Amino acid sequence: MTCDLRSDTVTMPTPEMRAAMMQASLGDDVFGEDPSVRQLEEKCARLLGMDGALFCPSGTMTNQIGIKILTQPYDEVICYRGSHIYKYEGGGLAGNSNVSVRLLEGNRGRISTEEIQANINNPKDVHLPLSSVVALENTVVREAGSFYTLQEIEKISLLAQSANLKMHLDGARLFNALTETGEPAASYGKYFDTISICLSKGLGAPVGSVLAFKKEYETKARRVRKALGGGMRQAGFLAAAGTYALDHHVARLKEDHWRAKKLGETLQKVSWVKSLMPIDTNIVILKVAERHSPEKIVQKLNEHQIKVLPFSATEIRLVTHLDFSDTMLDKCVETFSKIKL
Ligand SMILES: *Cc1c(COP(=O)(O)O)cnc(C)c1O
Repeated sequence: MTCDLRSDTVTMPTPEMRAAMMQASLGDDVFGEDPSVRQLEEKCARLLGMDGALFCPSGTMTNQIGIKILTQPYDEVICYRGSHIYKYEGGGLAGNSNVSVRLLEGNRGRISTEEIQANINNPKDVHLPLSSVVALENTVVREAGSFYTLQEIEKISLLAQSANLKMHLDGARLFNALTETGEPAASYGKYFDTISICLSKGLGAPVGSVLAFKKEYETKARRVRKALGGGMRQAGFLAAAGTYALDHHVARLKEDHWRAKKLGETLQKVSWVKSLMPIDTNIVILKVAERHSPEKIVQKLNEHQIKVLPFSATEIRLVTHLDFSDTMLDKCVETFSKIKL
């Protein structure tokens, strides 16, 4: 039995999901003729309180399209310094949108109205790049899945409106956040111009992300996806997996959160762990004790068929997901306490 905790992307489609994929109606989606893709896009638009949505191969692509359609070259995007759009998308913002970024510290990645306000450039000063988008991430992957509440988002949205800034949400794990807050996904639509969600993270689809948007962005979003090479043909196989994931794998996310907390309770007590970030959702980030290196611990756990991710020179990451069972949890709890380093 291998416990793979490196990411919530390592899941395999369940037999029921595979059956839904095999039964999907198909067509050429570049001609707009794949009924399963359309169904998923309409479902996501409705779910997120938006006008339209676009199925894409990855969350990197949905984020990149979102920023591209909300900015002009030379603009500046305001975001957390460790945000995925900046740190983990291969320099895409510079390459695809020709924008600069204004990086904020945030409270575990959640940026505040005060910080944003202090970093909006005066649009009349031609020395300064034009601040044009506030990009939020929910949950924040670099900060162990910390999440915003709608109340905080509403405040940021009011500020953005008053300063003429657009709002993008990297909601790769939005449903993990909503699992904790109990807020309805549909309320998100009124605060953002574009929202990206991932179907291949905790939701367990093999491939796919969706960008939801307001009506005026529909054509632009479809054109940019085409230009990036993201127009897919009989993509209904994949879209059907996404629809299945939204219907069947959202309510169970609370189990992942519970198991992450259980992992944390054990890790807190073992000798090779120095400290843990608070565990808010399904991500555990730990600092290893000074005399150890993440690589050595990762290797040692590997010998026990437990896979975890070295996350920085001092940190290790573990992420729970729908292929991580209670039996695996028991095995991890036992192994973490007994390994000798
Ligand atoms: C995984 C992730 C993405 C998208 O990643 P892809 O691997 O391109 O699908 C975007 N944002 C966050 C916060 C993520 O964790």
